[in-house]
Amino acid sequence: MNNAVRYCRICKETDANKFYPLNHKKCKKCSNEYQNKKYLDKKDKGLIVSSIKNRIDYIYIITNPAWPKYIKIGRATNIENRLRSYQTSSPYRDYQISFQIQSNHSHKIERYFADKYRPKETDKYIVNEWYELSVEDAIKEIHSIILQS
Ligand SMILES: [Zn+2]
Repeated sequence: MNNAVRYCRICKETDANKFYPLNHKKCKKCSNEYQNKKYLDKKDKGLIVSSIKNRIDYIYIITNPAWPKYIKIGRATNIENRLRSYQTSSPYRDYQISFQIQSNHSHKIERYFADKYRPKETDKYIVNEWYELSVEDAIKEIHSIILQS
């Protein structure tokens, strides 16, 4: 039995039934409104980009003229952000998006390329997910995975 006095600082509610067990300072209604406002503020500031449920994934191919025989295939919700993170690692800012497509099968596609093309011996400059493959061939394979899915 919890006899603590309940008093909502916002709407002055005192009925204990209208409070969550551990919250003495705000009633359920004000507490919910507060949490909702906090969520919307975050969303306004761009701190919440999208919920997992509404997430839209893209498969992208990034290339760099320094390695003409290689492509990077990855998956992202925001490709521009992903590209920007690559550019910061290059003094020439010369990474480019060569292809992108929205797909519900992005995870499957990413795995497919990893299983098929991940180099056995990793070159000093070729890190994970850079594959020795042409953009054209990769696009053909991506389309065929999507068609079969
Ligand atoms: Zn209240």
